[in-house]
Amino acid sequence: MLFTNSYIQSVYDSVAVRNPNETEFLQAVGEVLQSLQPVIQQRPDLQQHAILERMCEPERFVQFRIAWQDDSGKVQVNRGYRVQFNSAIGPYKGGLRFHPSVNASIIKFLGFEQGFKNSLTGLPMGGAKGGSDFDPKGKSDSEIMRFCQAFMTELYRHIGPDTDVPAGDIGVGAKEVGYLFGQYKRICNQFNGVLTGKGLAYGGSLMRPQATGYGLLYFVEEMLSSMKQNSVKGKTLVISGCGNVAIYAAEKAQQLGAKVVAMSDSKGYIYDAEGIDLSLVKSIREGMRGPIIQYKELKPSAVYTEGCRNIWSVPCDIALPCATQNELQAEDAALLISNGVMAVAEGANMPTTPEAVSLLQKASVLYAPGKASNAGGVSVSGLEMSQNSLRYSWTAEEVDSKLQQIMVDIFHNASDAAKAYGMEGNLLAGANIAGFLKVADAMIAQGVY
Ligand code: NDP
Repeated sequence: MLFTNSYIQSVYDSVAVRNPNETEFLQAVGEVLQSLQPVIQQRPDLQQHAILERMCEPERFVQFRIAWQDDSGKVQVNRGYRVQFNSAIGPYKGGLRFHPSVNASIIKFLGFEQGFKNSLTGLPMGGAKGGSDFDPKGKSDSEIMRFCQAFMTELYRHIGPDTDVPAGDIGVGAKEVGYLFGQYKRICNQFNGVLTGKGLAYGGSLMRPQATGYGLLYFVEEMLSSMKQNSVKGKTLVISGCGNVAIYAAEKAQQLGAKVVAMSDSKGYIYDAEGIDLSLVKSIREGMRGPIIQYKELKPSAVYTEGCRNIWSVPCDIALPCATQNELQAEDAALLISNGVMAVAEGANMPTTPEAVSLLQKASVLYAPGKASNAGGVSVSGLEMSQNSLRYSWTAEEVDSKLQQIMVDIFHNASDAAKAYGMEGNLLAGANIAGFLKVADAMIAQGVY
C-alpha cells in the first residue's frame, strides 16, 4: 500500500512486516492510515510520541485452546482469541465472534476498528475483540452451552467489569452470552456487568438486540437529511445478511416508511417485490439460524437466487451491507452505481473493499463507514454498562432516545472532522480522524506505555 507521507509509509511497512499474511488486519490499518495523512502533517507531536506505531500494536493478544465434548461424547478442539487493543479511553470493549473463518487477522482487524468506533460513541470504552473458529450452526443447545462454558473457563481470567467487557457478534447472540455469563459467575462468584447483550432478567439493557440495526437507520436518516435534504421514507432498500444487524435494520427501515426488497445469507438471497416479511425472516433465524432459502418455502411468490454477492444486482436507492467483511466488492459497487444507488451504509464491519469505497465516492454516492454507522450496538452496550454500575434500568424509550442522539452526534462529528481537514463529505476520513484524535490525546496524556 502506498502513502504520500513518508512517516506513515514507514509505519505501515513495519506493521506489514510484523503481521505477515494478515490481510484483513493490514487492510483495516491501511484504510485508517490513509485518512490520517493531513492530521499527521498538522500534529508533529503524534510522530514524536509514536502514536501510530503504538496504536497499530495491540496492548495484549491472547490465543487459547478450547476443548469441549460434543453430543456423541467426542472431544472437539477449537481455538479462542481475545485481543485487547487499546485501553486509553476506557476498559476494553468489543464483541466475540464464533465463526469457522475466525483467525488472528480477523480478530485483530475487528479489535483495531473497535477502538476508533468506541471513541466515536463518546462513551468511555477502549477497543477489543475476541472469538473462536467454532461454528454454532447446526449445533445442539447442549453443545453450544458446553462450548461457551469451555471458552469462558479460559477467558474469565482476562476480563472483568472494569477491565474488559465482551459482547456478541457473528454467531454470538443472547443465548451464547447467557451461557458465557453463567460460567463467569460460577467461576468468579461475582454477579457484575462483565458482558453486555445479556438477557433482561439478569442485567441486560432494553433495546440492545435492536441497537445496531436501529442505530444504522438513525445514522442514514441524519446523513440523508444533512447531505441531501432527503429521507429514508419511500426508498427501496437492499440489506445483505439476515442476522441480528440485518433484521433490526430492516425493521427500522420499514418503520421509517422504506421498502426492503432483498435480504441474504452466506448461500444466497431472496427478493420479495412486495417487501420482505420480517416475521418470516425472524421465524427462520430463531433457534437454529435456518437458511434464508426457507423464506421461499413460506412465501412462494418470493425469488431465491444462489450466491450471496448477487444481492447487489438488485436495483435500490439504499444498500446496507450487514453480513461480513469484504462482501461488497468493486464489481458490486459498479452494479449498484449503474442501478442508481444513492447511499451505501455499513451495518457490518469493513464489508466494502477499498476499491469499492473508492468507486462509490467517485460516483458521489453517500458512503457511511461501519465504524460510524454501526456504532449503535456498542453504544447501547456502553449504556448497559452504565445501567449495571447504577444497578438500575432505563426504559426502552430512554435507551432509544439516547441511541438516536449518539448516532446523530457521530454523524456530525465525522462530518465536521472531514471538513476541518479539507475533505468535506468524506465520512470515512472524518470518522477515522474523529475517532483517532480522542484516543491519541488520551495516550499522550497518560505517558509512554
Ligand atoms: P449474525 O450471526 O446474527 O448474522 C450474520 C449474518 O451474516 C448471517 O446472515 C450470515 O449468514 C451472514 N454471514 C456470515 N458470514 C458470512 C460470509 N462469510 N459471507 C456471507 N454472509 C455471511 O451476526 P450479526 O448480525 O451480529 O453481525 C453481522 C455483521 O455486523 C458483522 O460484520 C458484525 O461484526 C457486525 N456488527 C455486529 C454488531 C452487533 O451488535 N451484533 C455490532 C456492530 C457490527 P449465514 O447464517 O449463512 O452464515
